[in-house]
Amino acid sequence: GALLAQMMIEPVGMILRWLDELQVAQVSLARLVGVHEVEDDEGDASVVPDGRHLNAERVRFGYLAGTDVLHEVSLAVPPGTRMALVGPSGAGKSTLGRLLAGIYAPRTGDVTLGGAQLSDMTAERVREQVALVNQEHHVFVGPLRDNLLLARTDASDAELWAALAAVDADDWARELPDGLDTEVGSGAFSVAPAQAQQIALARLVLADPHTLVLDEATSLLDPRAARHLERSLARVLEGRTVIAIAHRLHTAHDADVIAVVEDGRISELGSHDELVAAGGAYAALWQSWHG
Ligand code: ATP
Repeated sequence: GALLAQMMIEPVGMILRWLDELQVAQVSLARLVGVHEVEDDEGDASVVPDGRHLNAERVRFGYLAGTDVLHEVSLAVPPGTRMALVGPSGAGKSTLGRLLAGIYAPRTGDVTLGGAQLSDMTAERVREQVALVNQEHHVFVGPLRDNLLLARTDASDAELWAALAAVDADDWARELPDGLDTEVGSGAFSVAPAQAQQIALARLVLADPHTLVLDEATSLLDPRAARHLERSLARVLEGRTVIAIAHRLHTAHDADVIAVVEDGRISELGSHDELVAAGGAYAALWQSWHG
C-alpha cells in the first residue's frame, strides 16, 4: 500500500515541486481542481454570465485538424441538475466535459453559461463558476495552509479548518505536528492518496463553484478509503450542478438526466428508468454491467 502510494505521489510531486517554484499565489484555480488549462486571460473581464444555465449548442470539436471528436452536440444543463455522461470508451465523454468546463473552446457552435460564451469570459471567471474535478492529485510540497489557500487566497485559518472538516479531513489534519504549517507532499508528512484527494475537495469547498464537471476515473484507493471519500464528495456536491463522467453505472443510476455519448454524439437522453424502458444503448449497457 505504502509503496503504491509512493509510486502514485512521486511523479505528481515532481511536477508540483516545479510548480512550487513558480509563485504559489500565481498558480491558477485550474491546477487545483483539474490539470487541463486554457490560456489565461484571453477573455473579456466584462463578460459575466447572467444565471447558471449551462448550455452546449451544436458543438463541434476535435483535437487534430480534420478530425471531429464531437459532432454538433447540443446539451442543456439547468442549474441544480445531476447529469451523468455515459458511453463507450473513446466516445467523447471527457472531451465534452472539458468543453462544458471551458477548458477547450468549440470549433463551431456555442458553450454558454447564463447566456454568455465561456470562450468570451476570462479563464478566471469561468473557474469561479465551473470546476473540473478529477482524481489526479494536486498536492504540492509546501505547508498544508498554502495548499489550501490556492483555492481562496484570503481565507482565514478558521475557514481552512471548516473546509477540512467539511471533507472529513480535520481528524488527521489536527494530528499534524505543526498544524496548518506542516509541510505536506513529502518530507515531514507524506499524504496518502485519499488524503490528497481530501485536500483537493477542501479546495473545492473554499473555491465554491456552483457547477462541477466530475471525471471519476477509476480509483486506486482501497475500498474503505474510497467509501469514506465518496461520502465527503457527496456532501461537497450537494446543492451544486454536477456533470459526472460516469465510469461506473451506479453514478448514472442516481442522476436526474443521463446523456449517452456514442461516437461524438448524444444518442440518448433521459432518466435511468426512461432509458431502460426505451431499450436502447443505455439499456444494453445496464444489462451488460448488471447482467
Ligand atoms: P473514456 O471513457 O475512455 O475516458 P471518453 O468517452 O471520455 O473515453 P475522450 O477521452 O473524450 O473519450 O476521447 C474521445 C476521442 O478523443 C478519443 O478518440 C481520444 O483518443 C481522443 N482524445 C482524447 N483526448 C485527446 C487529446 N488530448 N489529444 C488528442 N486526442 C484526444
